[in-house]
Amino acid sequence: MEQVKVHFLGASGTVTGSKYLIEYSGRRILVDCGLFQGRKELRDRNWKSLPVPPSSISAVILTHAHLDHTGYLPRLVMDGFSGPIYCTAPTKELTKFILLDSAFLQEEEARFANEKKSSKHKPALPLYTVEDAESAIKKLTVIPKSVNSEILPGVKVFPLCSGHILGAVSLTITLGNKRIVFSGDVGRYNVPILPDPKPVEHGELFICESTYGDRLHEHNNIENQLIELINKVSNKQGPLLIPSFAIGRSQHLLFLLSKLEREGKIPAIPVYIDSPMAINATEIYQQFKYDFDDEASDIIKKGLDPLSSKRCHFLRTADESKKLNKTKGAFVVIAGSGMATGGRILHHLARWLPYQEATVALVGYQAEATRGRQLQEGEPSIKIYGEHIQVNAEVVNLSGLSAHGDKEELTTWLKSCSQSPEQVKIVHGEPAASSSFSKHLNKTFTWNSSPAVHGEIVVI
Ligand SMILES: [Zn+2]
Repeated sequence: MEQVKVHFLGASGTVTGSKYLIEYSGRRILVDCGLFQGRKELRDRNWKSLPVPPSSISAVILTHAHLDHTGYLPRLVMDGFSGPIYCTAPTKELTKFILLDSAFLQEEEARFANEKKSSKHKPALPLYTVEDAESAIKKLTVIPKSVNSEILPGVKVFPLCSGHILGAVSLTITLGNKRIVFSGDVGRYNVPILPDPKPVEHGELFICESTYGDRLHEHNNIENQLIELINKVSNKQGPLLIPSFAIGRSQHLLFLLSKLEREGKIPAIPVYIDSPMAINATEIYQQFKYDFDDEASDIIKKGLDPLSSKRCHFLRTADESKKLNKTKGAFVVIAGSGMATGGRILHHLARWLPYQEATVALVGYQAEATRGRQLQEGEPSIKIYGEHIQVNAEVVNLSGLSAHGDKEELTTWLKSCSQSPEQVKIVHGEPAASSSFSKHLNKTFTWNSSPAVHGEIVVI
């Protein structure tokens, strides 16, 4: 029987840099090709060569479009990869924007380092350029969901909706008579827009994410939280600023705000989507309406748009964004970045944080040392554009908008899947989350599971 080898080249002991190299029958396939993000020691890995020449890899398969699953693609192509990059149709569209945006930022960063002479490299180079991103985009090749596609002789891929973001899938890869399952990022149950994660059939090796493998989300009703918040903002006659991730979170918010407005549960106040990336992502969501769940599809059948209302304004240009500084009364601004580390939300925060009538809602995980975390922890002032800005605005946390299942939801998904896997490797989590989730699986299912180690090779 022919052996299959899997190399864990990323998202092992950490949440970013997802990359798994499969070797089978003299061929190499890469599952996900993400960028390492966060600590410098992790980011430095983006500059190290892969253990095999990229030209020796026959194909890449993507689980979804997020940068930590796709952001290394331009570099892979630049370093010699010339095969197809398989993904679902929505993932192809979302990945285009993500790679171009990432390349633009890489170029900006290198330019900035050269101007400030802040890099030890002379000249500082981008990891890849917009041109490299364009070369990678040309290789994106659509494969259908819920169908077995033979991508190489004896190698079949079966993608199934994982409910994480539009186009996100888990992958069952059949190699001869062996089967490997990649969970991809697993979404949540009973959340708007997307269907629940679909159960898969396990194989010899199962590779499962564990972002929230050691904790439970608060199950506060998000609709009730929003009703209370918007009514309060309307009474205060001030702005509600929401730093938000462009893909997934922004559309989730748009869906809920439009729904509550239609149902007359919140006053109709203007909602400004002040992020070109979130606007592009929303258009792609609208383009793939057939991927929506029943609730969102019913809204469309009534001739309505589930992701917009009459009071929604999509601001593409920087000028439109700046004009908002003069707006009075109650309004909502949804702008990137999600942890207020950059993007247009910064000038809104600089404008409004000193005023009591303003409110800031934090809608996701706020990492250490970010402005989002400082606001969450009640810092009296935060630094924006080199200036200390007093915080007199009210800061609230909205829980329940995460795009990842928690420990209980991951377990529910695993229970719904048929057949026990022979071996389970836990990935895509901080070490504490992965190890706790692995122990939980071993106890609950008596599975043979362990956290993957960076660089580890598993043979089946
Ligand atoms: Zn993701």
